[in-house]
Amino acid sequence: MIRYCSRLLYSGCSSFSTTAAVAASTTTTATATETATDTKTKDTKNMVGISKEELNRQLTENHQFQPYRVNQVWSWLYNKGQRTFDNFSNLSNVQRDTLNKHYHIDYGTVEKDQLSVDGTRKMLIGYAGQEVESVFIPEARRGTLCVSSQVGCTFGCTFCFTGTQKLVRNLTAGEIVGQVMMARSLMNDFGHTTEKRLLSNVVFMGQGEPLYNYRNVSAALRILTDPSGLSLSKSRITVSTSGVVPLISRLGQDFPGIGLAISLHASNNKTRSEIVPINQQWPIEELMQACRDFSTLNTNKITIEYVMLRGVNDSDEDAIQLAKLISTFPSLVNLIPFNSWPGAPYQCSTTEQIKRFAAVLDRAGLKVTVRQPRGRDILAACGQLKTESVKIKKTLPGPPSPLD
Ligand code: SAH
Ligand code: SF4
Repeated sequence: MIRYCSRLLYSGCSSFSTTAAVAASTTTTATATETATDTKTKDTKNMVGISKEELNRQLTENHQFQPYRVNQVWSWLYNKGQRTFDNFSNLSNVQRDTLNKHYHIDYGTVEKDQLSVDGTRKMLIGYAGQEVESVFIPEARRGTLCVSSQVGCTFGCTFCFTGTQKLVRNLTAGEIVGQVMMARSLMNDFGHTTEKRLLSNVVFMGQGEPLYNYRNVSAALRILTDPSGLSLSKSRITVSTSGVVPLISRLGQDFPGIGLAISLHASNNKTRSEIVPINQQWPIEELMQACRDFSTLNTNKITIEYVMLRGVNDSDEDAIQLAKLISTFPSLVNLIPFNSWPGAPYQCSTTEQIKRFAAVLDRAGLKVTVRQPRGRDILAACGQLKTESVKIKKTLPGPPSPLD
């Protein structure tokens, strides 16, 4: 069965740019400024993003907090979403003063906050002179936040707008977690039980390649999944990669049960190397082996993302090859109609061809969904707001340094 779903439908880092869509828009656009309520000075550290172990070490060794007090701090910060140490009411005055003296709480600054007619919300958040996008996609039974892991991207996928921007820098763990905290804060979503939360899922499908910033992404994942804090279940988090092979198994080992999405986009090396240049470094065979290895560690189906580019990767033969390629591990294929952007060298496949392609996969026994765009009226695709502020420069991937 082929499903036309809006799940994971937020088309990652691409830009969506139809003038008609803008003209027809009934979008409400709001500009908001949210900053931490605690005084930030250069002498204090942002508490958001410090690992639990490190916070425990700092507070117990440097400031003589007892371990149960550290747990209280963690809970105020991540569970209750309290942004003022003075409101950490079960701590003593001395302890609150200590926290104020050495730390601050900073989720970032909301530079722009746009709401689509379909409820999709796009936030442009400033971090230390850079800006990144997060998009919240509400659905009947879940609410998904799409977060960015880098400012820009080095990988240069030819259909991706972010790929035309140079990598500015990796986001820190605090900036990745900050996107989730900011979204929860703006939606008054802290302190609720799991069932009542608006923000229930997180996907790493915004700007950047999460496995090329693994150190910070993994640190952020530990904080996001900590049961006494933000307590997001690993099965409700999906990390999307264009194929950083050495780190796929590592992700599975470090975070059993986490969701994995592979941006495959082609079923042969020739086409894939053209449109996803990192394929030259880690070709399809190695990528498929990494998927099989990941599957031995995780029971979840791997999502195979496949952008539909007219005349490039969308023939019936491509679909047949794709079905063969991914038949050796449990998967869910997500066909993504190409979102165009100014100067894009591709066109989206016809609706008819997308249906034919999906039907071939369906007949091969695969689960297929066709991603339905959301938030079109606010151009809710990553990379868009950044285009004015980031110098356009195409860069091919450099040598592998995913832990840097
Ligand atoms: N760097 C990671 C995660 C971010 S991109 C990755 O590549 O997986 C999230 C998804 O959006 C990827 O599958 C990506 O290939 C896809 N995408 C990028 N540009 C697109 C476009 N113009 N139209 C449709 N999908 C696009
Ligand atoms: Fe875009 Fe490719 Fe980078 Fe993903 S890896 S953000 S698709 S350029």
